[in-house]
Amino acid sequence: MRLYSLLASAKINLYLEIIGDRPDGYHELVMVMQSVDLSDRVTVRSLGVKEIRVCCDHPQVPADETNLAYRAAALMSAQFPKVFAKQGGVEITIEKQIPVGAGLAGGSTNAAAVLVGLDMLWNLGLTQLELQELGAKLGSDVPFCVVGGTAIATGRGEELDFLYGLDNLYVLLAKYRSLSVSTPWAYQTYRQQFGESYISDSAGLDERRRRVHSGSMVAAIAHQVGVEIGQGLHNDLEKVVLSEYPKVAQLKETMKALGGLGSMMSGSGPTVFSLASSRLQAEQMKTQIRQQLSDPDLELWVAQFIPTGIRLDS
Ligand code: ATP
Repeated sequence: MRLYSLLASAKINLYLEIIGDRPDGYHELVMVMQSVDLSDRVTVRSLGVKEIRVCCDHPQVPADETNLAYRAAALMSAQFPKVFAKQGGVEITIEKQIPVGAGLAGGSTNAAAVLVGLDMLWNLGLTQLELQELGAKLGSDVPFCVVGGTAIATGRGEELDFLYGLDNLYVLLAKYRSLSVSTPWAYQTYRQQFGESYISDSAGLDERRRRVHSGSMVAAIAHQVGVEIGQGLHNDLEKVVLSEYPKVAQLKETMKALGGLGSMMSGSGPTVFSLASSRLQAEQMKTQIRQQLSDPDLELWVAQFIPTGIRLDS
């Protein structure tokens, strides 16, 4: 087959703690990541000519070499030059459902889909670990997006420990269409405001990384108890993003008052999510929030937790 269509899931962070600085300029993080079934469709197709093309109908997504999906294909062609020369180029079509600049890893999951898609298109037979290692060269969230499900992520987010997957929870996602938050800005501002509290010794960092394994969020996931997961939600970046973007803070407060299992901002925002124990509860919260905040700029999605990242679109 000369074409593969893949579904690429968005992720939310159930837990995000910033614990220190790294020599490479990134932050040391402790996170719990979760895939949700709000997905882009990414199609990879062999081209007769030796080039990489990206087609995407979303106005905020570049179609040039700055697109993370393009960079994933360029990495694969550099990594496997003989296969690229033999197979010819590739056309990547991205049908966007995941909002852009939303803290839901939209670009990262598109890149992960291209890695998986080219592995299949070029019959490379790469292992999941090899795909994750290639993904880490493209961005911190890409390795998680390849596999998906539920995972503890440490380092800059690329060191993964997969947990027993959750699929019995739902989420209402809310984002103002016209609002996006720059991820580098959020982390730099956090460093300016809270850098003094960073742990700098390696024993201290190790201890903090280990603490999440025995912490309440991981226990709640092991118990598969939605109420406990809702109570354990945590995101350090809220401290800088909510004060800079009062609309996001207000959105979070409104969502919290609806009575789901818990509400939080995902990643660097500005998407806010509320957990629900059923699709019905999530849909009811969606209706309520529409009534309370009748802003046409506000976009809402109901999604389910899923145990996979990139999967074939059957
Ligand atoms: P993260 O949660 O990993 O920080 P995000 O969800 O906040 O990411 P993205 O949707 O990945 O953010 O988009 C961030 C920027 O990357 C946008 O400015 C967008 O123009 C650019 N970009 C490059 N490639 C893509 C892609 N394939 N899909 C979406 N955005 C892309």
